[in-house]
Amino acid sequence: MFFEISIKDIVDVVLVAFLLYYFYRLMKESGSLNIFSGILVFVLLWVFVSRVLQMKLLGSIFDQMMSVGVLAFIVIFQDEIRRFFKTLGSHRHFKKLSKFFSRDDAEENTSDYLPIVMACMSMSQQNVGALIVIERNESLEEYVQTGETVNADLSQRLIEAIFFKNAPLHDGAMIVRGGRIMAAACILPVSHDLNIPKKLGLRHRSAKGVSELTDAIAIVVSEETGNISVAVGGKIKMGLNAQQLEGILSK
Ligand code: ATP
Ligand code: MG
Repeated sequence: MFFEISIKDIVDVVLVAFLLYYFYRLMKESGSLNIFSGILVFVLLWVFVSRVLQMKLLGSIFDQMMSVGVLAFIVIFQDEIRRFFKTLGSHRHFKKLSKFFSRDDAEENTSDYLPIVMACMSMSQQNVGALIVIERNESLEEYVQTGETVNADLSQRLIEAIFFKNAPLHDGAMIVRGGRIMAAACILPVSHDLNIPKKLGLRHRSAKGVSELTDAIAIVVSEETGNISVAVGGKIKMGLNAQQLEGILSK
């Protein structure tokens, strides 16, 4: 038995390798790497059994599993698939496209967010815990619904009043849309990324979670340390000062 290898085959293999690498990176960014590894192992086993070894019985069982598996996969991994396509859509090239098609009036003035920066600094000094999410192009309506409607102008004193220890709305996240405080005490999706440092609790994990699923910016003031962190695009930057926070908000 011998194989004939043409240039077409080499290009084919290189393209598949490239595609696999791209999927690997996307899965890694969307925090579903284990699923990717599992599927890869199964597909390799399937190709090996039914194509290379040409085992008829095992091959036919695997064939059946593949056809049912696609459906089962979609049902079981709804969330991961959703997250995966969101990451895909939020990649650089698509981002430029979606920016092109989305409204131009989404451009916001940096100074609009000064009350947030001031409030975060003040809460950081007093070790008051806070979680503020700023909506960008993707709607946060489903999370706004989980909290109490506020619909007020952004003001440093109002933000501090909301997060004041034991105030009725201090628990959960505040959501800011178009320069207004839309809601407080909102419940965010918690990130399931296993690589988050153990010392970070639910406040940081839910900030990361909402930034994985949407293009929002989530700001955390730690109750334990007073540290300010920002989560964007599933990545969390910790220990920020006023200039750095302002810099991120103005971007
Ligand atoms: P800190 O450094 O402030 O202690 P942490 O990351 O250690 O933050 P926790 O100590 O677990 O987090 O903070 C708990 C608080 O986080 C809760 O009181 C609540 O206000 C907020 N929180 C927890 N889970 C969520 C969620 N899913 N959505 C919004 N807010 C949440
Ligand atoms: Mg804690």
